[in-house]
Amino acid sequence: MANKKVLVLEFDKNVDEEFKSWTKEAVQEFIDLFPEYKDNFQINENKSFFSKAEVEEIINKSRSVSSDDVWNMFELQPDGRYLRKESIDWDIKQTQSNGRIDLQQWIRNKNGGRNYVLLSDAIAVSVTSLPTTMGYGISNEKGPCVSAGMCGKNKEYFKDIIKHELGHTFNATHKDRAHTVENLGSHCTDADCLMYEYAYTKEAFNRRQHKQKPLFCNECMDSMREYMENKLQLENKNKRDRLNNLQVQNTPEEIQSEAGVGRAFKTGYREIFKTAAEKEGAVYKEDLQSKTYSATITNQDGSVDKIQASSATNVSLSSKDKDGKPQVPDNKRFENLADYAHKQGLNISFGNIKSAEFKAKLMLACLTHEPPVKMTGAPELTPEWMSTLTPQTKTALEQALRLQVTNQDQPSPQPQTKSDKAKQTPPNLRAERGSR
Ligand SMILES: [Zn+2]
Ligand SMILES: [Zn+2]
Repeated sequence: MANKKVLVLEFDKNVDEEFKSWTKEAVQEFIDLFPEYKDNFQINENKSFFSKAEVEEIINKSRSVSSDDVWNMFELQPDGRYLRKESIDWDIKQTQSNGRIDLQQWIRNKNGGRNYVLLSDAIAVSVTSLPTTMGYGISNEKGPCVSAGMCGKNKEYFKDIIKHELGHTFNATHKDRAHTVENLGSHCTDADCLMYEYAYTKEAFNRRQHKQKPLFCNECMDSMREYMENKLQLENKNKRDRLNNLQVQNTPEEIQSEAGVGRAFKTGYREIFKTAAEKEGAVYKEDLQSKTYSATITNQDGSVDKIQASSATNVSLSSKDKDGKPQVPDNKRFENLADYAHKQGLNISFGNIKSAEFKAKLMLACLTHEPPVKMTGAPELTPEWMSTLTPQTKTALEQALRLQVTNQDQPSPQPQTKSDKAKQTPPNLRAERGSR
């Protein structure tokens, strides 16, 4: 099971609702910057004060921690409530003077390690209503603390501060990296990057608001990705997809040789396409010199199909008619692709295909293959989308989907007529199910 990284939001008792919702937005937007890792994150909200019954409930639920240890995680308040130690409200009690929170002291306490926190490896995003003795926020790898009391009611500005501090938490500007500078912590030297040392000036803020450039520069993004991949060991969705999916496209020019890929993968394609061509009495030609798999099949009607692949999991299929005009390949080529995917144990991924007819024919081949080939990123089969297809493909696809419903439905207690079943065809759902 892949690691889940929990981000817990902590607000002190006086933080108002607006700042809370801005914090949630900022954290979500930050995570959204990393589509390949975002499924690994989970956002929770923690509270500081608990009733006696709530503490007892925690004791009942926690098997590995003794009840004494659980009681010890809380401090009984004069009003009878229990304050969770290391919650933001508890932290404030330890670190405030004259109504201000000392962020340096706060981070020193955090660096001392967590003895009381229930979720010990979570990242806590703490927001305080108090002004600080210095600065807007601070952070370490356990998470940031940001002062709502310091930055006025400017939503975007506040959100930028949260994201900047999260940037530190996720190691955006570590010291071994180029283009960083030591100034109140390690910062980026790119003046358009949110990790810039003067990112909080009005000028830098306004520049970001024009949104001509991404929030973080490439180097900061790369450092954070590396941290998520290697330090936090989060599962990379793209990598997983690449391993299990055959990426199909209809643009051969986008197939380029990939570094580190040998030529052995070609055998898998050759087995399928050469055999198919021979069976059909078509002419198979392969460029054996090429680093990529590159083959043409000249059909009896004079049309020429081109199959090009840069690896076992990345292939393009295209076709020209006898006059050299581009066309969507014949169904049999898609059936060959489905055969190939099945033999290699791959799902077929639709993400890179631009033509609806192409997608439909590929889907048809997946659905009618015995057994059906799993699909990811298959298009949603709306009536509008279906209406763009050629009549033959549309009819064939509808038939194949009906078959799917009949084959995959759980046996129902009441016998249904065939036409009843056909009526309830939920094509979207079927296509989705194939992708799981
Ligand atoms: Zn900073
Ligand atoms: Zn940067």
